[in-house]
Amino acid sequence: MSYVTFGDLRTAAYCPRKLYYRRLEDDHEPPPEVAAIRELAFRYERSLAAEDAELADEPIAVDPDSYRSRLADARERLERDGRWRELCSPGERAVLATGRDCRGIVHKLLTEPPEPSLISPGRPPDRGVWEPQSVAAVAAAKAVAWEHGRPVETAIVEYPAYGAIRRIRLGTRRKARYRRALRTVRSLDGPPPRTRNRSKCEACSYADRCGVRTRTLRSLLGFD
Ligand code: SF4
Repeated sequence: MSYVTFGDLRTAAYCPRKLYYRRLEDDHEPPPEVAAIRELAFRYERSLAAEDAELADEPIAVDPDSYRSRLADARERLERDGRWRELCSPGERAVLATGRDCRGIVHKLLTEPPEPSLISPGRPPDRGVWEPQSVAAVAAAKAVAWEHGRPVETAIVEYPAYGAIRRIRLGTRRKARYRRALRTVRSLDGPPPRTRNRSKCEACSYADRCGVRTRTLRSLLGFD
């Protein structure tokens, strides 16, 4: 059986129909601005010490004070866990990890104990991580565990544009959502139903093709 990629799992957890369109178009390349945002995750210490003007030139999505303050909170938490230094300067980055079922790129691989970190270019939720990123992080942890022959029970998801770094534990519910996404990817055959959570469609690049009516400027102004 072929490996399922972390990216396909992430998209399936967002909306299986979106994965169907992506496959039709063979559309897997992230836009160029994603690389610039991901690079932020490799210079947290510099950002913490940066002046406002310097941060203004970076692709950050919050004001400089909030950015430094969020990073300082993350540093405090991760220093307690002995993970901050390695997260800032990981020995292994962009590592291809292959597990029993999945494979994909782990953006940072921390060691002793092994722990993967995935970097999201987007906005974090108020708490924790979004479900698609949780599913991908579980897949990454399982792949790293498979390669190292030892359990990996935590993973990190970074949202560097927002200065947010979230560590998750692979509990029963997260693992169940991962398995559900895995089944969805493997069984994809024809267009699945549209997601019932139409707020997802607002940000979906396939909305026109999908035939979903997203909120237009007219409706936002109350004309529709
Ligand atoms: S527009 Fe909505 S239903 Fe259609 S693929 Fe995108 S997220 Fe899924």
